[in-house]
Amino acid sequence: MWVKAIDIVLDRLVMQGADLSTVLAIGGSAQQHGSLYWSRHGVKTLRNLNSDKFLHVQIDDSAFTVNRTPIWMDGSTEKQCVEMETAIGGRAEMLNISGSKCYARFTGPQIRKIYQERSNAYEETQRISLVSSFCASVFLGDIAPIDYGDASGMNLFDIKAKIWSKQCLNACAPDLEDRLGKPVPTSAIIGKICNFFVERFGFSPECIVTAFTGDNLSALSGMVLEQNCLVMSLGTSDTLIMNLKEQPRLEEGHVLCHPTEIGHFVGLMCFRNGSLVRDLFNKIEASSDWNKFNELLDSTPRGNYGNMALHFHSIEIIPNVKGVLRWTRNNSSENSETAKGVQKFLSPQTEIRALIEGQMLHKRAVASDMGFHFGDETKIVATGGASVNKSILQVISDVFNAPVFVQNESEAALFGAAYRAKYAIYLNSLVDVSRICHENNNVQHTATTGPLSYLDYITRFIPNHLRIVCEPSKDCEQIYSPMVERYRKMALILAKK
Ligand code: ADP
Repeated sequence: MWVKAIDIVLDRLVMQGADLSTVLAIGGSAQQHGSLYWSRHGVKTLRNLNSDKFLHVQIDDSAFTVNRTPIWMDGSTEKQCVEMETAIGGRAEMLNISGSKCYARFTGPQIRKIYQERSNAYEETQRISLVSSFCASVFLGDIAPIDYGDASGMNLFDIKAKIWSKQCLNACAPDLEDRLGKPVPTSAIIGKICNFFVERFGFSPECIVTAFTGDNLSALSGMVLEQNCLVMSLGTSDTLIMNLKEQPRLEEGHVLCHPTEIGHFVGLMCFRNGSLVRDLFNKIEASSDWNKFNELLDSTPRGNYGNMALHFHSIEIIPNVKGVLRWTRNNSSENSETAKGVQKFLSPQTEIRALIEGQMLHKRAVASDMGFHFGDETKIVATGGASVNKSILQVISDVFNAPVFVQNESEAALFGAAYRAKYAIYLNSLVDVSRICHENNNVQHTATTGPLSYLDYITRFIPNHLRIVCEPSKDCEQIYSPMVERYRKMALILAKK
């Protein structure tokens, strides 16, 4: 299906008159975690594509040893997760090495399940690709390397040393390293486009192919953010994404190699009780009308007269608790009686503000626990369905004491792929320039002109890609800083219940 999609997309581009000979470089983004198992025959076919035929006629089922590819929605490998963590000495070790505890959808446990349950297929597998490196392989006409970013979603990669972890590989399946191949930085150029695309679609034989990566990281590169930006995705689930210089010590969340800031990490934390709870309150308190919801929210003051609530309707990830706690200004953790809180607040507007402020205080606490440094330069970048809601964004701006921005373009993952390709062309051109300078003994040039960073280079072309929508109120830090501490006390009370 994926191969056929490439056939169709390129056919349509040509039919619409695109001159593909002008394409200088190709980057890509694909869903994370999925894995493909190449047969010996498949690898051979890939290296000898015939431009008279469709791709999908050539790279068919026989190219793979496993035909129903496991993807991120597969949660059937809990057993393998336990086995892998146990084999390397526990969950903390797995987190420390790979940046995440073992997750059922991650590729390592998925590979182990195939090794255990379909040992013949595993035995016959010559190479394993992720969905991203698989797509890159098609353009390359050879097996493409896996990039550091997507490798971080496998429970197999040592995110600090940037090599496959021998411990994790051994805990997963035998002879795995050869099947995975050597990983490369996300910014790497992995080769030139293969002849198939030159002959069939008119690409230039000089067109370069860069490493492809997973969609979350590609979206992050598409947002082109400074280090002080905290991304808050408010889609079906709420997620925080941040740039980290050091790997945090948390039991949950994901730490991945940064796609564009060499040596940095990306911290990614999901929240279970985000939009689903907001949707529920919108239904119950505002008859499913976001305008009414916003009127109620706007009609209450910052700090909500000391009324605060935590709504963990399903078990939350951090903190790992379930339950609801409402405190008025008279409640505290002083004794069990005052800690109990109240059943309900007196008005729908108090309920709504307590929900939104509680959600955002929770996120602020988690972000700082992950190692995000808040300061004068902090910016929040909101994305996803709820980022159209200015009243919610104003609460975010106040709770975080930072301006909130939205992007001018959607489809950040695709833009990210294109920007990375553009940056690769730039870096490549510098290599050529420095080689010429070196050959001409113009050493000074190479010594003084370092390359621009990804951020500095790409923002030249998209100067206004973020739009400010809210600014924090003057008194917000005074109000919300003590409320973060109060949030922590409430979370502890819920954890004890
Ligand atoms: P996905 O993550 O599946 O791409 P979206 O980004 O479209 O989903 O986000 C869907 C969520 O957006 C819904 O659950 C809903 O809570 C939220 N949403 C949509 N419109 C609004 C709005 N005006 N105010 C608050 N939340 C909204």
